[in-house]
Formats: sequence, structure tokens, C-alpha cells
Amino acid sequence: MSDRVEENLKAVRHRIEAACQASGRKKEEVKLLLATKTVPLEKLRSAIRAGGALFGENKVQELRGKYADMQEYKEVEWHFIGHLQTNKVKDVVKYVTMIHSVDRLKLGQALHTQLQKENKRMDILVQINTSCEESKFGARPEDALELVEQLSQFNSLRVRGLMTIGKLNATSDETRHCFRLLKQIQSRIAAQNIPGVEIEILSMGMSGDFEVAIEEGATIVRVGTTIFGERELPDCYYWNEKAGSPD
Ligand SMILES: *Cc1c(COP(=O)(O)O)cnc(C)c1O
Repeated sequence: MSDRVEENLKAVRHRIEAACQASGRKKEEVKLLLATKTVPLEKLRSAIRAGGALFGENKVQELRGKYADMQEYKEVEWHFIGHLQTNKVKDVVKYVTMIHSVDRLKLGQALHTQLQKENKRMDILVQINTSCEESKFGARPEDALELVEQLSQFNSLRVRGLMTIGKLNATSDETRHCFRLLKQIQSRIAAQNIPGVEIEILSMGMSGDFEVAIEEGATIVRVGTTIFGERELPDCYYWNEKAGSPD
């Protein structure tokens, strides 16, 4: 039985290539991360058959279960893309190679403390709230530089770039504005040449807006629904303040 994941994944790859071509970029510059929250294991396996190898999860508990169940697939790499509470830090560093959602100093401190104990390092992205919507996590654009400077002091963390969620249910101009802002923040931070900080990754763009994000410089797009189908839980379950205390 076909779940259409393989076809959908191929179609998304074609659209990524087309968007790269349209904006004069190489397709190798843009990585596809599959946003797998709520997605059952059979569909993850279909995605792997179609060459998917980079998965992003939003909740530590769900990540832990899927990570264990997918152990046989050594090629799969996991990133964490959801709101992270400091009390989950110990667990998350076991499973992922990158955390896209570091949005406050306290979280950076907690990660650093844990990583030091384990003598490990972790790639991180700093999440910025470019749409300034109340319900979303992420540092304020005006605080981005200072936060990156502070995080760069933790030698177990490697700041590799920035992440944002574009304005939802918005016109493409409004979303483009969010992505353009992230790119501007990146340039401003890069110009500071902060020791230990390589700010080359821009994680932005989802099912509804990944082509716009590529035009504006995305290097990782995070796509779920277009590949796996609609989710049963609304996204506010993952994105609202109510999804967990911001501690
Ligand atoms: C769910 C999610 C995505 C993917 O969203 P779709 O609209 O399903 O493509 C991307 N980024 C984050 C942080 C998410 O939680």
C-alpha cells in the first residue's frame, strides 16, 4: 500500500530545485529537513526509502520514542526544532546533532552545563521571532546579537546560524518580510566576527512558504504536511506558551 510519502518527497525536492534555480542558487545549498511530529513510523520508513535522512522533532518525549524505534537506520540524523524546556536538556542531547530552537540564555546555560558533563559539543541555531507574534517562541530581533554573543561564551555550544518560523496564515509578502529580516540579522551578526561563531545556516521555510524562504536565502527548509499529510493535532499544541512553561 502506498502512503504517497515517496511521491510527495520527490515533488518537494523538485520544487526546492526549481526555487534554487529561479533564485540563482545551487540546489546543494539547501537541505531538506522532514518535520516528523505526530508522523507514524511507517511513513518515516517510506521517507527513508525515498532518501530522506534528516528528521526534525518538536517534543523530547516523541523524539525519544522514535529515535529508539528507528535505531536500525544509521543514516538518519535528528535535529530538535521545538520549544525546549531546560529540564529536558539532558535527554535531548543524547539524540540530536543540532538544536534549532535556542532562544534564551538560560537554555544555553543549561545545555552547556549538561554538555560539559558529557564532554560533548552541540551545534545550535538561535531562534528568532521575526513575526513578533505573541504565541511563538524565539528571541526578539533586537536581542539577537547580544544573545549570540552570550551563547558564544559557552565553548560546548557552536552557534551555526539562525532559525525562524515565518508568519502563519499570512500573505507571501508578510512571510517574505520575516525571512528577509532573518537574513539581515544574520548579516549584522556575521559582520561582528564573533570568535567561535559561524553564522552560515538559515533554517526557515515550511510547507506553505519554503519556496519564498529559499528565494530569501534559506539553507535548511523544514517541511512536514506537504510530505506526510495533515496532522491530527493543531500546531498550537506545539507552538503555544501553553505547550510548556517557557521557564
Ligand atoms: C511542524 C513544523 C514544521 C513543518 O510545518 P509544515 O507546515 O507541516 O510543513 C516546521 N518547523 C517547525 C518548527 C515545526 O514545528
